[in-house]
Amino acid sequence: MSKQSVRDVDVRGKRVLLRVDFNVPLDKLGNVTEDARIRASLPTIHHLLDHGAVVIAVSHLGRPDGKVVERLRMAPVAQRLSMLLGQPVHAVQDIVGAPAQAAAKVLRPGEVLLLENVRFDLREEKNDPDFARELAGLADVYVNDAFGTAHRAHATTVGVAAYLPAYAGLLMERELAMLGQLLERPERPFVVLIGGAKVSDKLKVLENLLDRCDRLLVGGGMANTFLRAQGYELGKSLVEEDRVADAKRILAQSSDKVLLPVDVLVADRVDAGAAAQIVAADAIPPDMLAVDIGPRTVERFRTAIVRAKTLFWNGPMGIFEIAPFASGTRAVAELVGKVRGTTVVGGGDSVAALEQLGYAGKVTHVSTGGGASLEFLEGRVLPGVATLRDRAEG
Ligand code: ADP
Ligand code: MG
Repeated sequence: MSKQSVRDVDVRGKRVLLRVDFNVPLDKLGNVTEDARIRASLPTIHHLLDHGAVVIAVSHLGRPDGKVVERLRMAPVAQRLSMLLGQPVHAVQDIVGAPAQAAAKVLRPGEVLLLENVRFDLREEKNDPDFARELAGLADVYVNDAFGTAHRAHATTVGVAAYLPAYAGLLMERELAMLGQLLERPERPFVVLIGGAKVSDKLKVLENLLDRCDRLLVGGGMANTFLRAQGYELGKSLVEEDRVADAKRILAQSSDKVLLPVDVLVADRVDAGAAAQIVAADAIPPDMLAVDIGPRTVERFRTAIVRAKTLFWNGPMGIFEIAPFASGTRAVAELVGKVRGTTVVGGGDSVAALEQLGYAGKVTHVSTGGGASLEFLEGRVLPGVATLRDRAEG
């Protein structure tokens, strides 16, 4: 079911409560060190301002757990937003109550207010109805652009929608379209490239995508559990013994679709200075552990990746945080960057790897939702999406 967005509502002269994801990294002094999430919300904010709305933005920042934490105040974020928008952004040190109401009331169309960190109030994460009603009272319309928080049922992601007409922001709309396309009508061949640490984190995603894709390429730590399922010895590698049965089942179900590593980089410890060598996947020495996929595996994956018309990638191919173990992830990122079809990358560490290696600009869509994108691809309906108005099917 597709959702209505800011493009479906006349916001002229209206007060819009805009849930954004401004949960940006800060340094020890509370300065914004990386503003990608703020920039990701700009299209929606510009759209609302250009159409004569008052924007009352609200976000969480860090984990203050319901208390006021000085270094998690929104003021530095308001400053950065103001710089990016090229206009003043009013900031208040309140979320609800008289001062917030007063600050919201004086705004004129085209102006922006940023409320205080919403997780300073315990009632946010409890999805408290009174808190939600108070927040909703600041505005006429609710827009949710915080896809990265849409898997949480909080007051600003779910509760307020009980009191206001609720629409998707442009970022939310794009996330739903890009990820939805993977589940609904992927152009074929559809290739899923999955890695990262553990099978257990991704089992539901694997199962939901397995039937829908044409090829499933498995790398990273999670491949070890699949190699074990084939009866290989893994030495000191990360293996989830309690998931071997799941891996066996997946292999039995679709062995023709699944490609596993045929060689790996092994190291004697997880350290840049470790002794490391490439070995066949069935010849991992007992005192070593697999830390990356090997070059023959990259070649094996290459053919499938470059032919893809749709590709989804989640999870690094190795312990990419350690430079000598990043070659497999880098090689795969380069290949994904060359795909002519639609490429979508999701997952916190996957996106970090893509950015660190300089390939973020080469893919069609980098999802801003780590946990949210995975839950979406598990086939779950995210609570923060369910509350948005449906588009009439026609
Ligand atoms: P994402 O956040 O993109 O969903 P994950 O959190 O599942 O990805 O996995 C990322 C982590 O997996 C990284 O910290 C990386 O070091 C780790 N990892 C990748 N390959 C291995 C491996 N062979 N052994 C142990 N850890 C690995
Ligand atoms: Mg992760």
